Amino acid sequence: MPIVIDSDACIGCETCVELCPDVFEMDSEGEKAVVITPDAADDCVDEAIDTCPSEAIIKE
Ligand code: SF4
Repeated sequence: MPIVIDSDACIGCETCVELCPDVFEMDSEGEKAVVITPDAADDCVDEAIDTCPSEAIIKE
């Protein structure tokens, strides 16, 4: 189940990057989060999914 971010929904709060820096980073403009490790199974991914204020992180 690859991890994806709905970039239209992402508000760029950086919470996922703080929780899980090996999986998420901000894009070059610093406006949206992007997934750098789509197949990560880290516990922090679930925490980020639960914490994201815009429910923009999805496991497909
Ligand atoms: S936690 Fe959600 S809204 Fe915040 S940067 Fe990550 S994907 Fe975007």
